[in-house]
Amino acid sequence: MTSPFPEPGREVARTGNPRCGSKADSNAPTCGAPATWHVAWSLTPGGARFSLVCDEHLVQAQTNYVYADRHPAEIACDMPGTGWSLAAPSRCVAVSSDDLPGGAR
Ligand SMILES: [Zn+2]
Ligand SMILES: [Zn+2]
Repeated sequence: MTSPFPEPGREVARTGNPRCGSKADSNAPTCGAPATWHVAWSLTPGGARFSLVCDEHLVQAQTNYVYADRHPAEIACDMPGTGWSLAAPSRCVAVSSDDLPGGAR
């Protein structure tokens, strides 16, 4: 299964300003709306995939894909050196090692 969402940090610099990275198709520009959700499509160590999405695109994504976890997008979600913490509820935290799933990015 291929996610339509680019991995955060690859196409867009991580600046602490979370923006929706969704695209209507691979040639379309990214949405760019302020992201409201941080979605984990997979939390498998080494294969973790995350997306920052707006409300509209989360709804669209939910109709086609099943996510592993999500939490409201916040500044930490778009900062370098942060990773997905598997707390309940999950959140993004600064990490000093790569032993979190989010450390893969
Ligand atoms: Zn969007
Ligand atoms: Zn996050």
